[in-house]
Amino acid sequence: MDAAKILKKRGLRITKIRVAILETLAANLQALPYSKLQKDLSRFDRTTLYRTLLILRDKGFIHKALEEKGESYYALCSNCTSSMHNHNHVHFKCNRCSTVQCLHITNKLDLSIPKISINSIEIIAKGTCSACLLAD
Ligand SMILES: [Zn+2]
Ligand SMILES: [Zn+2]
Ligand SMILES: [Zn+2]
Repeated sequence: MDAAKILKKRGLRITKIRVAILETLAANLQALPYSKLQKDLSRFDRTTLYRTLLILRDKGFIHKALEEKGESYYALCSNCTSSMHNHNHVHFKCNRCSTVQCLHITNKLDLSIPKISINSIEIIAKGTCSACLLAD
């Protein structure tokens, strides 16, 4: 993944921390907890890290996959824009190893409720991940 190129293409200024966050998230298959990002990117100022996460989220580069017990898990977006996040996937948390993943599904998430217009649906599934199942 060429983070600098992607930032440029979407009209965002290329900064070291933006590139570092995107590359760190791209290098992991799971969503990363904020505490892990802080550890991995400890060379950057903590406030800058927090603010940059907000900017990248606002611009449709990353999203919060889950928020639980004071920990936020972040993951890369694939088809989002600065005007709208559009995730046709489910967030899965493994109860054993605590990893959080974005799982792409083949059918389109759809839900209709009378008299309400729905723009996005979030589903959080919990269970045992394939790695933990194999370890049994
Ligand atoms: Zn998104
Ligand atoms: Zn697991
Ligand atoms: Zn996700």
